[in-house]
Amino acid sequence: MKQSVKMIVGNWKMNGLAAQIDEAREVDAVLRSEQAESRVVICPPATLIHRVKMALEGGRVEVGGQDCHAESCGAFTGSASAEMLADAGATLVILGHSERRDAFRESDADVSAKVESALAYGLEPIICVGERSADRDTGRAVEVVTAQVAGSLPASLEGKAFAVAYEPIWAIGTGRTPTTGEIAEVHAAIRQALVDRFGEGGRAAPILYGGSVNPGNAAAILRTPDVGGALVGGASLKAHDFLAIIRAAH
Ligand code: PEP
Repeated sequence: MKQSVKMIVGNWKMNGLAAQIDEAREVDAVLRSEQAESRVVICPPATLIHRVKMALEGGRVEVGGQDCHAESCGAFTGSASAEMLADAGATLVILGHSERRDAFRESDADVSAKVESALAYGLEPIICVGERSADRDTGRAVEVVTAQVAGSLPASLEGKAFAVAYEPIWAIGTGRTPTTGEIAEVHAAIRQALVDRFGEGGRAAPILYGGSVNPGNAAAILRTPDVGGALVGGASLKAHDFLAIIRAAH
């Protein structure tokens, strides 16, 4: 993939009943007519993956999951495995989102195990990292994020397609964002960590920014050095807003 082609990922979180599929249809229909260059992914809740995939068959929008279990099957009530997501039609999966790390106490090692499972079933992982506001306030943002990259990315990613999403926890769903200078600093540190770890192959993975991206701030964020795209929560639920963010990428 050309580095200039941005990857725009919508994370619907635990939002969306069947009617929400119309928003995905609208995004796809507009992208087909506009022949947009960006790579666009929608990650609906697990209950909608199959229906969204069917609704977008042959279209421009890829479908991903929001999490997977590290095991492929077993006595894990309420969980879905990477194999199940792939069977439902997902081709990517978000892993290590801060809402999972917080609410489900997922460690870097847990995230790394999930990445291994995603790769085993052919899913492209989007691995989230990000500091708390206290870390940023004490000047530890880069240190915290690079430690998460080291612990959450297994060696088996070498040569595989994957993305890293930098999502400062204090920016998610708050309307607050880092300055573009602060985003550039963390993205440069993540890039260096990827190159140190995977050699020249570490230059291929897009590094997405996530946290309160909206139609008003998307263009400036997407123009920031080494921002390869965006992971979008709230603003991905409405086709109109999500399309405005996608258009800001060209
Ligand atoms: C997210 O959930 O990954 C996210 C970035 O959310 P929001 O865009 O709503 O801040």
